[in-house]
Amino acid sequence: MRQVAVLGATGSIGASALDVIARHPDRLQASVLAAGSQVDALLALCRTYRPAHAVIADEALYATLRDGLREAGLSTQAHAGTQALDMLAASDACDTVIAAIVGAAGLSSTLAAARAGKRLLLANKESLVLAGELLMAAAREGNATIIPIDSEHNAIFQCLAGCSDTTSLSRITLTASGGPFLGRNRDELAQVTPAQAVVHPKWSMGPKISVDSATLMNKGLEVIEAHHLFGVPGQRIRVLVHPQSLVHSIVDFTDGSSLAQLGLPDMRTALAVGLGWPQRIESGVSSLDLLTEGGRLDFEAPDLEAFPCLALAFRALQAGGTAPAVLNAANEEAVSAFLQGRIGFLSIPDTVTATLDTVPMQLADSLDTLLAADARARTQARALIDNPTTTQRKYARA
Ligand code: NDP
Ligand code: MG
Repeated sequence: MRQVAVLGATGSIGASALDVIARHPDRLQASVLAAGSQVDALLALCRTYRPAHAVIADEALYATLRDGLREAGLSTQAHAGTQALDMLAASDACDTVIAAIVGAAGLSSTLAAARAGKRLLLANKESLVLAGELLMAAAREGNATIIPIDSEHNAIFQCLAGCSDTTSLSRITLTASGGPFLGRNRDELAQVTPAQAVVHPKWSMGPKISVDSATLMNKGLEVIEAHHLFGVPGQRIRVLVHPQSLVHSIVDFTDGSSLAQLGLPDMRTALAVGLGWPQRIESGVSSLDLLTEGGRLDFEAPDLEAFPCLALAFRALQAGGTAPAVLNAANEEAVSAFLQGRIGFLSIPDTVTATLDTVPMQLADSLDTLLAADARARTQARALIDNPTTTQRKYARA
């Protein structure tokens, strides 16, 4: 029986993961469920899945969680705080960890699971962008198996059939849906609202990644993610917009073969691959019928003028060191401000550009250096958000 910790259980990936787990009571058990602050949602999940442990990251909510579990007559043990989260991710309470916390907040528990040699189903792409080398080294040293859950990287993992020797791989093509604003120019993008940005045409996801998809920063983060996971330099990673979202990525090999993975856009497929590998297990997702889906697969180059975030991510990857951490932190701050209605859509790339321009790049030689760069970038990005005229004057188009 696989004992699975679902970190970010109350989120979109968490819900998909629990759906797959519930289909296999004979082989999968949700043993740890963790959330950030939605304690009522976590309690509801505990009543359904009866895990051995429940963790709420917000320590102020410990008593609510503990009392709620007691009132429900559950033997689930209550925990609170990030240290408890890290401890449980590394403990015998689980052999498999689904890293599905959103943002840099997921780094610490992801690293803990990697160091402890878990099977790590990695959805939290921000941890790879922020500390890719350290995370991959921790997984190697801890003998952890990383199975990427991001659909594109999961597709590549499947094309490589789990083989870690990637010397015969000549190019990776990450496909992008193009998001809700595909085809719009910068002037049209200036007025779009958070409500429009979070409605993704193909995938149902949490608000942060939905906005990242709308700016194409999501694809930029995925380029950096692919670089770390598969050891491929940025020059051999390309992005193609594929509006149908049925081809999840393509791998070119040195012998002229190209392999792609196809499927309906539903994260349960990637999660089932991660939970069952090397076996294939039922996920609840129907097989793809290309005729029913319209019989077309279109591909086009992304519009980097309207969506500069993708180019910014390539720039940060090329610069190396702490630059990807700065990119990620500035983006998290800008997306949060956009979702709160404090800045416009185009201020997201402007804030990231201005932060990358101002925060000096350093060698990423330790976790402390990376976390310091993350903190400095957040301070800088918040200052730019609070004083938008500076950013606008400098980065407004002529
Ligand atoms: P959601 O916003 O839906 O869920 C986020 C989860 O993280 C929630 O359970 C939330 O808890 C928890 N959380 C937030 N902050 C903290 C914190 N400080 N400590 C502990 N837990 C916290 O996000 P998604 O499920 O969409 O995405 C999760 C990750 O997976 C992201 O990194 C995303 O990029 C990646 N991903 C998602 C895909 C998708 O289809 N959704 C596809 C590919 C990758 P609470 O509810 O209590 O706030
Ligand atoms: Mg993806």
